[in-house]
Amino acid sequence: MFTMSSDDFTVHTRECDAVGSGMPISSLPDEVESMDDLDCDCWDVFDSFDEIE
Ligand SMILES: [Zn+2]
Repeated sequence: MFTMSSDDFTVHTRECDAVGSGMPISSLPDEVESMDDLDCDCWDVFDSFDEIE
């Protein structure tokens, strides 16, 4: 579900173009507590974490 970019280690959806050859992870990092912590536009399609999980 989540993928970490190999360039800057930000977290994206698996479909995001910014990820490149990033590695899949099973859950969001602990430091991500709100949608505001996710900068990339790929998260704009989600209204809340409830939709992601
Ligand atoms: Zn993204």
